Amino acid sequence: MQRGAIEQALKEIDAAFARLEQGTYGICQGCGRSIPVERLEILPYARCWVPCQLRAG
Ligand SMILES: [Zn+2]
Repeated sequence: MQRGAIEQALKEIDAAFARLEQGTYGICQGCGRSIPVERLEILPYARCWVPCQLRAG
């Protein structure tokens, strides 16, 4: 893993904790739907689920 990728991952984890505190953790930031648990198990700090991720590029 490269340094930039690690920093990016740490930022995502930070943001995930902030969403936990706000009570918005696990909610897609793209469409506001709940992110499937299976996805959160793979990527606990996911901001959105696969369909939105694909749309965002
Ligand atoms: Zn979405």
